[in-house]
Amino acid sequence: MAAPSRFDTHEVTNQSPPFADVDLFGLDRPLQDAVLANGAGGETKALAAFGQRWGTSEMLDLGRRANENPPQLRAFDANGVRRDFVEYHPAYHLFMAESLAARLQASTWRADGTAAPAPAQVSRAARFYMAAQVETGHLCPITMTRAAVAALAAAPDLVAKLMPKIAAREYDPVLRPWPEKKSITLGMGMTEKQGGTDVRTNMTRAVAAGEGYAITGHKWFMSAPMSDAFLVLAQAERGLSCFLMPRFRPDGSLNGLRLQRLKDKLGNRSNASCEVEFTDAFAMRVGEEGRGIRTVLQMVQLTRLDCAIASAGLMRMGLAQAIHHARHRVVFEKPLAEQPLMQAVLADMALEVEGAIALVMRLCGAFDRAAGDPREAARARLLTPAVKYLVCKIAPALIYEAMECLGGNGYVEESILPRLYREAPVNPIWEGSGNVMCLDVLRVLEREPQAARAVIADLAAEAADLPGAREAAGFIDGTLPGAGAEERSRAAVERLATLAAAAALRAGAPARVTEIFAQTRLAASRGATYGVSDISAADAVAILERALPG
Ligand SMILES: Cc1cc2nc3c(=O)[nH]c(=O)nc-3n(C[C@H](O)[C@H](O)[C@H](O)COP(=O)(O)OP(=O)(O)OC[C@H]3O[C@@H](n4cnc5c(N)ncnc54)[C@H](O)[C@@H]3O)c2cc1C
Repeated sequence: MAAPSRFDTHEVTNQSPPFADVDLFGLDRPLQDAVLANGAGGETKALAAFGQRWGTSEMLDLGRRANENPPQLRAFDANGVRRDFVEYHPAYHLFMAESLAARLQASTWRADGTAAPAPAQVSRAARFYMAAQVETGHLCPITMTRAAVAALAAAPDLVAKLMPKIAAREYDPVLRPWPEKKSITLGMGMTEKQGGTDVRTNMTRAVAAGEGYAITGHKWFMSAPMSDAFLVLAQAERGLSCFLMPRFRPDGSLNGLRLQRLKDKLGNRSNASCEVEFTDAFAMRVGEEGRGIRTVLQMVQLTRLDCAIASAGLMRMGLAQAIHHARHRVVFEKPLAEQPLMQAVLADMALEVEGAIALVMRLCGAFDRAAGDPREAARARLLTPAVKYLVCKIAPALIYEAMECLGGNGYVEESILPRLYREAPVNPIWEGSGNVMCLDVLRVLEREPQAARAVIADLAAEAADLPGAREAAGFIDGTLPGAGAEERSRAAVERLATLAAAAALRAGAPARVTEIFAQTRLAASRGATYGVSDISAADAVAILERALPG
C-alpha cells in the first residue's frame, strides 16, 4: 500500500505505489521458464542482473525523459551551412550506452560476423524483451545494427573491417568517420514514397564511380539517421542492389545524405525517423548487382524477429502494471485483484502474454539451432512472419486493456501506459505489415512445401494431446496454400502462430497453463476482448501468481 500523503484538504490513500525498482527477470516466471526451455538456463544469473538494472526507477524515469524530449533535426548551422545533424536527449544516449554495453547490437554474432553458438539468440532475446519494457525507441538502431550483419555477410571484406566496431561495447555517439570511432551503429533505407512493401519500385539510382558508387534519390522513411552507415537499396545497371552508405566519404568529408525532416510519429518518439535525399552519396556495394532483395532477406528476418520480441516486452510491461495496480487498489472494500471479474480479465491477459513469450523464445531457439538442423531452419523461416503477425498485432489491444485496468490513472502521461500504447502499432507496420506477413507465410509454403509442411506436422505432434491442436493443424493444412489461400491466409496464419505458441508452452510452461491456453485459444474461438475466456477462479489465481508473484 502506498504511504499516505497529507494535503490541506485530504489525504492521498488507496493509490498503488509505483511499479519501479523491480526485478524484471525475477518477477517474470513465464520468461524464466521460456529461457530454461530454450537452452539458456546457464544465463540465469546474468539475466537477473540485467533485469534488476533495467527495472530500477532510474531507468524507468530515463525512459520517460527520452520520450518526452524527442530528437531535433539541426539541418543547417547559423550561417546556412548544412549540418544534417540530429540532436537527441541525453537519456536516449544513456539507453544506447546501456544496450551496447550489454551487446544487444551484436551478441548473436562472433567476432568474424558468423552466427554465435546457441543459446546466443535466446539469451539476447530475453534481454531485448526486458529492455523493451523500459524504452523501445533506442532499440530501433540496436535492432538494425545487429540485423545488418546478416546482409553484410554478402561482402566479407566489409564484415572484416566493420565487425570490431559493431561488436564494441563502448557507445560512441560523435559524428565522425567510422574508422575513427570506438563503436558504430547501422541503419537501413529501403522505403520510398512510391513504395515500401514493393521495394522493386525504388527509383533511387546507383552509378559505379571510383572505388564505389554514387547514389542519387530519396528515402521516405529512414530511422536512426545518426547511424554511422546505412544499408540502402538502389537501382544499379543490373537492377535493384544493396549498398552500404556511410555518413562520411572516404576523404573524410560529410557524405551526400541530406536530412529533409523528421517524421512526427504517433509513438517511438525517443527515436528519430527521417526523410532523406541522397545527392551523389558515396556507397559500397553489398552482394551482387541486381540481387538487392536477396541480400537483405536474412537481415529482414532478424528485424521481424525483434519486432515480435519487442511487442512481447511491451505487453509484459502493460500486464505487470495492471496486475500490480489491481493488487493495491481497493474498490468496494476489496482489492481489485480479488474481484472475480477483474481476475478473469487479468488472467486472460496473462495467458496471452505467457503464450507470446513462449512463442518468441521458442522461435529464437529455432534461430539458434538453424545452422545445424534443417528442420529448425525451416521452422524459423515459416514461423518468423507468422509470429511477427500475431504477437505484434495483439499488443495494442492488450496494452489498451491494461490501461483500463488502471482506470483514469492509466490514461494519463505520468503513467507508462500511454507510451506503451503509442509504441505498439509500429511493430506490426514496419518491416512488413500484417498482410505482407501472411503473404510471406504463403511464399514459404509454395517454395519449400515439404519442409514447411513438416514444420506444421511437428507443431501438431508437439501439441498433439492439447485441446484443439489437431483441428488447428488440419485447418492450417487445408487452408494454406492453394486457390483462394491469399484471402483466407490471415485466419490460417493466426492459427499457425497460436498452434506454435501452444507447442512452445508445452515444452516449458506448467501443464495446466498450457492446457488452458489451448482450450481457450485453439479449441474455443477467442472473443474480441479480454476476460471472455473460460478460466476458473483457481486457475486465474495460479496464472496471475506466475505472471507476477504477489
Ligand atoms: C516509425 C517507422 C519507422 C520506419 N523506419 C524505416 C526505416 O528505417 N527504413 C525503411 O526502409 N523503412 C522504414 N519504415 C517504413 C516501413 O517499413 C514501411 O512503412 C512499411 O514497410 C510499409 O510500406 P508502405 O508504408 O510503403 O506501405 P505499402 O507498401 O503501401 O502498404 C500499405 C498496406 O498495404 C498492405 N499490402 C501491401 N502489399 C499487399 C498485397 N500484395 N496484398 C494485400 N495487402 C498488401 C500492407 O500490409 C499495408 O498494410 C518505417 C516506418 C515507420 C512507421
